[in-house]
Amino acid sequence: MYDTIVVGGGPGGATAAYFLSQAGQRVLLLEKEKLPRYKACGGGIPVDLLKQFPFSFEPVIQSHARSVSYALGKLEITHPLPKSPINLVMRQQFDFHLLAHTQAEIRQGAAVQRVIEETDRLVVETRTGERYEARYLVAADGANSVVAHALGLRRKKALGAAIEAEVTPPEAVMRRFRNAPLFIFGEIYLGYLWIFPKANHLSVGIGSFHPRPGKLQATLRRVMARYGISLEGVPLHGHPLPIYLRRQPLATTRSLLVGDAAGLVDPFTGEGIRFAIQSGRLAAEAILSGQLARYEPQVFRQIGADHLWAAGLALLFHHLLPFCYLFGVCNPYATQAFTDLLNDRAHYPEVILRIFGTLPLFLGIAIFQAVVTLAGLLRGDLQGRRK
Ligand SMILES: Cc1cc2nc3c(=O)[nH]c(=O)nc-3n(C[C@H](O)[C@H](O)[C@H](O)COP(=O)(O)OP(=O)(O)OC[C@H]3O[C@@H](n4cnc5c(N)ncnc54)[C@H](O)[C@@H]3O)c2cc1C
Repeated sequence: MYDTIVVGGGPGGATAAYFLSQAGQRVLLLEKEKLPRYKACGGGIPVDLLKQFPFSFEPVIQSHARSVSYALGKLEITHPLPKSPINLVMRQQFDFHLLAHTQAEIRQGAAVQRVIEETDRLVVETRTGERYEARYLVAADGANSVVAHALGLRRKKALGAAIEAEVTPPEAVMRRFRNAPLFIFGEIYLGYLWIFPKANHLSVGIGSFHPRPGKLQATLRRVMARYGISLEGVPLHGHPLPIYLRRQPLATTRSLLVGDAAGLVDPFTGEGIRFAIQSGRLAAEAILSGQLARYEPQVFRQIGADHLWAAGLALLFHHLLPFCYLFGVCNPYATQAFTDLLNDRAHYPEVILRIFGTLPLFLGIAIFQAVVTLAGLLRGDLQGRRK
């Protein structure tokens, strides 16, 4: 009999297992795959998120973002990121590193297929017929959570979709993206593409919150070819994006859903690792205090309420894209506000206010720079004619 069984060894499950086992609980973590396992993911992780763990993630950081670029058609803008607020990782290494620091007992190749909640305990059965018992359960088994289904939770799912590929392009292309992620807008409905630098390769991908059949793969190939990145013969990994669009129960009397199993992906950025870690920690705290009923309200307060703002912003952004690109994306203060958001130093309402609030300053500077450039050009032209 365990205190808690955690299903899934991604960041959500690993975090819950870490904090529960640190507190002295007897924890069993069941993971379907053999570890370390590949996970389709850009691997963009805010620096401050990792500060809650008392160990370093430096051994698994592949790259530090020193600037960020955004493209829309032929337009492209780059903003420097002086403090490198975003790290880039490969998920098989990152997740394994986190798991290696838990004191939980880990069973690999153990796919859970049934969960039975009894009055005083839970029984978990794997596909190969093993049975385990515990007082509590954390379901961290990702977007297609078997456990959520078995418990009758998260019946209404909002699923986007994304595709990821790992590529090693020619050296000149690698050099262009070194420490410099790129986001590409305007190519796919309600979504975007990305090129993220890793130590010796690029992770490229496409995601949409409302994917249309057949569009993702074709668009990914077409747009990457434009950047000199061929996907010929490269495996493409697809995965659902469970976005948060409504409040739903995330707990029973003995079980809690975390991360993608709880559908906590940000509907604007597509980010999910931060919320898997945050909800994993909240789940551990709820179990340790024995107050599982408090879990969902806390997830809503800390994550869900903000995600509803993100959903509104996503609709506005993608439907008024040229306008939002020129007056939002090109504004360096907007990037600053977003890096604060990713590092939990701001919430969406503040970010939106900061973008609108800095607009006059941004436009003033842009007009001044345009006038100076024009004056320089005219002066050069006049001098040329005199000669
Ligand atoms: C293409 C793509 C790119 C992304 N890029 C980013 C990004 O750059 N930054 C970001 O923050 N987020 C990104 N995300 C989202 C992010 O990957 C997820 O939100 C995050 O992985 C959620 O973590 P998790 O622990 O909840 O679930 P997962 O990481 O999915 O882990 C679930 C684990 O459960 C295991 N499992 C599944 N079923 C069972 C079972 N029945 N029994 C036992 N184990 C099981 C799985 O094998 C897996 O190891 C991206 C997603 C996609 C699809």
